[in-house]
Formats: sequence, C-alpha cells, structure tokens
Amino acid sequence: SSGSAGTSGTRFDLERETELRFEVEAGERVQLELLTGLAEVFGSELNRNKKYTFGPGSKIAVFTWQGCSVSLSGKTEVAYISKDTPMLLYLNTHAALEQMRRQAEKDNERGPRVMVVGPTDVGKSTVCRVLLNYAVRLGRRPTLVELDVGQSSVSVPGTMSALCIERPADVEEGFSVQAPLVFHFGSTTPGTNIKLYNKLTSSLAEVFSQRCEVNRKASVGGCIINTCGWVKGSGYQALVHCASAFQVDVVLVLDQERLYNELKRDLPHFVRVVLMPKSGGVVERSKDCRRDTRDEKIREYFYGFRGTSFYPHAFDVRFSEVRIYKIGAPSIPDSCLPLGMSQDDTQLKLVPVSPGRDLTHHVLSVSSVDDDAEVGAEQSRGILESPVCGFVVVTAVDTQAQVMTVLSPAPRPLPRHTLLIMDIRFIDLK
Ligand code: ATP
Repeated sequence: SSGSAGTSGTRFDLERETELRFEVEAGERVQLELLTGLAEVFGSELNRNKKYTFGPGSKIAVFTWQGCSVSLSGKTEVAYISKDTPMLLYLNTHAALEQMRRQAEKDNERGPRVMVVGPTDVGKSTVCRVLLNYAVRLGRRPTLVELDVGQSSVSVPGTMSALCIERPADVEEGFSVQAPLVFHFGSTTPGTNIKLYNKLTSSLAEVFSQRCEVNRKASVGGCIINTCGWVKGSGYQALVHCASAFQVDVVLVLDQERLYNELKRDLPHFVRVVLMPKSGGVVERSKDCRRDTRDEKIREYFYGFRGTSFYPHAFDVRFSEVRIYKIGAPSIPDSCLPLGMSQDDTQLKLVPVSPGRDLTHHVLSVSSVDDDAEVGAEQSRGILESPVCGFVVVTAVDTQAQVMTVLSPAPRPLPRHTLLIMDIRFIDLK
C-alpha cells in the first residue's frame, strides 16, 4: 500500500495496527510528515503537518493504532510497511503495569519495577521507551534506569544512570535529560569490572528507593530498567543481582527462551517473568554502527542535538589542580594478593593516574565528591558512590608545562577537581 511519489516525498497509507519501518542512509537525512490520521514513533505521538527529521543511520518505525497516511522525503535505505508487529503485546503489557500502578495507589504501595532483558539487538531500549511513553502519557512519573553501559540512552557511554520521566520522548531526540542521576562506570562493557557494575547497580537501586520514600508519584510510577545484552556467565549474574537490588516485580525477557527459563528458575516465585517476542523491525547493528552511536552520544553531550544547541569550551587545566583516578587495579592472582585483601577490593580500588600523553582523547568524568575529601580507603568508597556532575575530554597534554587542554560543556573552572578516567576515547572533529 505504499503510494505515489509527490513533490513533497513518498506517500504511505497505513492500515490500523501496522507500521512503516525505514532506515536512513549514511550521510543522509529523511523527513517524515503525518498527513492524516494518528500515528506514533516508539510510543510518542506525531503531530499532524509537522516535519520530523531523522539523521543518518536512524532506524524508525511509525506505528498507527487507527490508520494514517504519512510522507517520507530523503534517501531511505529501506522503507516498507509491516502488519506483523508486537505492539499490541507491548500495549497489553503496559495495561498490566498500569493496573499495578492503580492497585499501588489504592493500597498505598509502590508501583511496578520492571526489568527488560535479552541479548543484543532485540529492541530492549525500544520496549523501555514505549512503556515509559505510555505511562507518562497517562500522567505517571516512571523512572528510567539505564544500565546499558555500551549504548546508554540517557548519558554518555560508560555510565549508569536513572532519569525521572516527566514527558513523552521527543520524536527526534528521545527523552529530555534534565537532571539525571549518573554514575561513572568507565567502559562500554560490564565485564571490564563486574564488581563495580554490580555495586553501581545497588547504588542506583538505593537512591531510587530513597526517592520513592519521599515522592509518592515516583513510587507509584515505578521504574523500567534497561539492561545490557550480555546475558551469559557474569552478565547473567548481574541481571539476577539487579533483580534483587531493585526488588523487581516484573521481568520482560525479549526473544530468548533459554534466558527466560533460567530467570524463572533463579528468581523468587513472586517475580513475574514474561517472555516476549522481538519486533521484526529491530535492526541488527554492527560493531562500527555501535561505535558511531557511542561517538554521536558523546558529541551530543558537548555540542547538543545535531551539533547546534551547545557551545563547548576548551581550556587548560594544570595537573596540580586535579586528581585523576582509574577505578580498579589490574587483577592479580589470588595467591599474590596482600594479606586480608580480596579480588573485590582490587576491582573497587581507586588507582591514581599520573597525567601523561596517553590521557589524550580520553573521556573523564567529573566526580561530584567534595574536593576537600581526603582519599583514604574510606574515601574511595565515597568517590565510587558519588554521582558524576559532568564530563570532559582531554584534547591535548603538555607534559613539559604540566597542563592538559580539555573540552568542557561549561567554561573554566572545572566544577570539581576529582576526575575519573574512562577507557572510552572521543576524537573531536569539529
Ligand atoms: P542493544 O543491543 O544495544 O541493547 P536493544 O536490544 O536495546 O539493543 P534497540 O536499541 O531497542 O535494541 O533497537 C535496535 C535498533 O532497532 C534501534 O536503532 C531502533 O531504533 C530500531 N528499531 C526498534 N524497533 C524497530 C521497529 N519496529 N522498526 C524499525 N526499527 C526499529
């Protein structure tokens, strides 16, 4: 039922409960316009006669409950209508969660805490977005907990975060990120430091629970937790840990029966574990594609969406002004550990980094920890568990002059002077 090409693009007429899927070609842009009827993109409603622009590599589904017609202009890699979508299942899931919120409201209890799991490329983030959008459209205030350190939808890669959702996601930009709670993890896979990963999961759960105690809407709204696609070995254990830390009520398992059975076996019986199909529209992403998305996310942090809204600053920071740490000492054989020290201790240890050339291009988190805090064993915990207040990228290092140049969203001086180094690098091509 794809239609004729007009001056303003190609027209597509969609029947009810179908979706138009398209991908934007590399280096291209595509404009979408809703001409008649009602439609949504991942749970966010489209406005009629407004042009939405999607950048290179975007993979989008325009879904309609009632039927609609839309037009696309620009170069798409693919564009087709599918009648086979799991959206009705997702809507039913939402309805069940909403029922739980209503019950929570009545009984003065807390709302549903939902963990979304599955291997890579099954649409976990998309399901989270749809469920959050449907909840917030009903006036709920759910929290998005983002544990995917490779592809965070909230902050730069290498972070774990929580965000209170107050309005539907912007069709082009996603959820507006004002005042998220962000922790430094430092790399794009949990396996780099699983102890730290689990610890930060617990920290987020604790902060969320505290918020629920003082904020009734947050408590009733519950949370939707997006997780990593690593579902074996320690990755699986991390999911079990997360379920217990957040005391989740519902686990949505996308597309993997084995994972579903394992979680059913290992989680307490009162946790509802539900197997859900993935959407045929979810597109597998290559390593390069993931790297590009990560880069884009960092660029967005400094330059704003599509590089037009923010103007970052570059300035020099003297080595003596800051203290830089890496979290986690390289693991050493158990037999070589100092007396009374366990492997856990080494993974959560703060290791001072002396600034040198190799810092160049690294992303550094600026810890919100008090500058005057002494760094002893006690304080190291303080730094691990302190949220991040921003990020900088080292663009140059002058060892002679003992200064480094940083790219920063705000002008000098740095808001705080404790910096945590990430494995992640960003080369600023602006
Ligand atoms: P990860 O492996 O990073 O955890 P994921 O399982 O969270 O991935 P998503 O990020 O939700 O997967 O989806 C992967 C890609 O597929 C995204 O670019 C998303 O926009 C796209 N996508 C999801 N659903 C559809 C759909 N129905 N039609 C077209 N594209 C879709």
